[in-house]
Amino acid sequence: MASHIVGYPRMGPKRELKFALESFWDGKSSAEDLQKVASDLRASIWKQMTDAGIKYIPSNTFSYYDQVLDTTAMLGAVPARYGWTGGEIGFDTFFSMARGNASVPAMEMTKCHFIVPELGPDMNFTYASHKAVNEYKEAKALGVDTVPVLVGPVTYLALSKPAKGVDKSFCTFSLLPKILAVYKEVVSDLKAAGASWIQFDEPILVLDLDSRKLQAISTAYAELESALSGLNVLIETYFADVTAEAYQTLTSLNVATAFGFDLVRGTKTLDLIKGGFPSGKYLFAGVVDGRNIWANNLATSLDTLNSLEAIVGKDKLVVSTSCSLLHTAVDLVNETKLDNEIKSWLAFAAQKIVEVNALAKALAGQKDESHNNNSMYDEVSQIFCSQAFFSSNASAQASRKSSPRVTNEAVQKAAAALKGSDHRRATNVSTRLDAQQKKLNLPILPTTTIGSFPQTVELRKVRREYKAGKISEEEYVNAIKEEIRKVVELQEQLDIDVLVHGEPERNDMVEYFGEQLSGFAFTVNGWVQSYGSRCVKPPIIYGDVSRPKAMTVFWSSTAQSMTKRPMKGMLTGPVTILNWSFVRNDQPRSETTYQIALAIKDEVEDLEKAGITVIQIDEAALREGLPLRKSEQANYLDWAVHGFRITNVGVKDTTQVLLAYNQWIHTHMCYSNFNDIIHSIIDMDADVITIENSRSDEKLLSVFREGVKYGAGIGPGVYDIHSPRIPPTEEIADRINKMLAVLERNILWVNPDCGLKTRKYAEVNPALTNMVAATKVIRNQL
Ligand code: GLN
Ligand code: ZN
Repeated sequence: MASHIVGYPRMGPKRELKFALESFWDGKSSAEDLQKVASDLRASIWKQMTDAGIKYIPSNTFSYYDQVLDTTAMLGAVPARYGWTGGEIGFDTFFSMARGNASVPAMEMTKCHFIVPELGPDMNFTYASHKAVNEYKEAKALGVDTVPVLVGPVTYLALSKPAKGVDKSFCTFSLLPKILAVYKEVVSDLKAAGASWIQFDEPILVLDLDSRKLQAISTAYAELESALSGLNVLIETYFADVTAEAYQTLTSLNVATAFGFDLVRGTKTLDLIKGGFPSGKYLFAGVVDGRNIWANNLATSLDTLNSLEAIVGKDKLVVSTSCSLLHTAVDLVNETKLDNEIKSWLAFAAQKIVEVNALAKALAGQKDESHNNNSMYDEVSQIFCSQAFFSSNASAQASRKSSPRVTNEAVQKAAAALKGSDHRRATNVSTRLDAQQKKLNLPILPTTTIGSFPQTVELRKVRREYKAGKISEEEYVNAIKEEIRKVVELQEQLDIDVLVHGEPERNDMVEYFGEQLSGFAFTVNGWVQSYGSRCVKPPIIYGDVSRPKAMTVFWSSTAQSMTKRPMKGMLTGPVTILNWSFVRNDQPRSETTYQIALAIKDEVEDLEKAGITVIQIDEAALREGLPLRKSEQANYLDWAVHGFRITNVGVKDTTQVLLAYNQWIHTHMCYSNFNDIIHSIIDMDADVITIENSRSDEKLLSVFREGVKYGAGIGPGVYDIHSPRIPPTEEIADRINKMLAVLERNILWVNPDCGLKTRKYAEVNPALTNMVAATKVIRNQL
């Protein structure tokens, strides 16, 4: 029985690649230094997989930025503005596309964290990056015969957008013949280098595809057939079920030797396979979860694999991961702060490789006693080892199931009671806004900010030293209070109407809450690449969530005591906490969300009791949890929105609830579900909604129009905080005027488009000064 890994994290167990990239970008180290770190990382990954006994080891899953950009380089699809004149694409051009350079900004990044290819009818594709074959050869020189991985041609085109100046109706799929010409060259290069397998990642197959796109799959692989002859071809899908139509198209491809499926998120795919699998082809069964950190339930996986083996035959079943391990943490070995019990429940990428291989071995051993002609001793020891591994896995699964650290009956009951109900504040938004206005007495076009103020080096130092026990609690509290005082004074000077405390006590908007809630654990090295060199370290939600004590009341009421103006209480919403964590796989995500919502509800009510009259709840990550398949989206949005409403259903009419739907990263709408999101935002029934108003202006206009109908206050960001540029007063005034053309004046708020924590005071001061000045100019004209 064979084993396969779809892909592996690139950053390294201690983020070695991140530091090497950043030092190279800062001009502190050479290209050779960076290449050395990268090749050492690749070598150690290949060795690790070889040592574990993995048969199909991937190459070209490494990237200096992301794999889509790698493919753009491979195809020479460099937008003209980067001035590339041909030849092999080097770091200069590559990183200019990713990050911009002194004269040209970067290409667009999506929320799904890849650089979006910009294509047009005139694009000249040429084979311009030999990375795939180079990595294949590099592994081969180390004695490892790998499966080179390419982003499939159809997925690549589906992720592309028409370049600026190209007609919006231009269909990137019309470029298929052109890019296939380059793919053919790459394939023949790989063949010449000795590859016997090739993997095409076509995750696009898990979306709801129209027949045109499915046709593109058939056309593309038929076109590649002669080039691929002599190679074993694996077409890999992941992240969800494939539809019956996609399954049909995929399994009819002549050229394919093997098909890979995500059997963790794609349980319906199992039925498709049971309904028929092409004979003689390999099934790469993704039973080990590539997107989470939980140890696999080996017994359950073994059952699944056994049933699959009966369908496809024992020499045609390959044990695999559900997707690339890129989406999980790297190595549990480096977790020094987690206790042994929790550790026994977990598996990061390095441990998942071992799981995949153990499953393959167990399946072989169990089913075919005589498969191994080695000595008796070897065989016994092999079975023994795998049995020990299986039984410790079984006891870890059992301990996770029964641990009192996981289960809190009161919380379970309270969350279960929420299901099926529809919590909503009793009065409608206009009534509430009237009641709030009587109390708050805000001017027209109220000004505010989204929450965080610049996180200075000194501030980070204070938090670090407090955590490390180097300064006392008293010193820490005083330092934070001092910071809050400065931020409050600054806002008063600027004449902002609704103030924030600046969030100096938080290093991260999810971690800060997770650390104070029960049911959360934190890693020291559990980093996952977000994009480029950026990594995130998601908390692990392992148990029922509850709030032992108030989390933000002290800081918010301290801040309120420093000013007569309203001070916003500042909370992260349940859906964002969920979507930015590694979540439990032993209960539905909705259940976990409801539990978090109840904890946040208690916090909201405590803030109200402490005299806080405006409470902002951040739900920046609402869209990130949206299922890929349309059929599952409505259900998700339903409980996600309900979760938000639960948090504030208990407050008085006079307490103003703000929903902040502000995101750190400019987004484009990948799956054209913008209207559903708008309706969900409205359905959250907040009194005021702040929203990032980045580049997709026309689309956002519809949010505003919906907002008008609904009657809530709307605060579309009036300037972009993601850039150091200081927006001139006239420009902001112009923006406000444009919004007033669509929105009634009494519902419009004025605020930046996101939190200010990544900016410097030298930028924030003048920018906010201009924002307030612009507001006053407009107020005087009204
Ligand atoms: N309150 C958070 C901040 O300002 C909100 C950020 C966000 O939602 N992206 O930092
Ligand atoms: Zn996207």
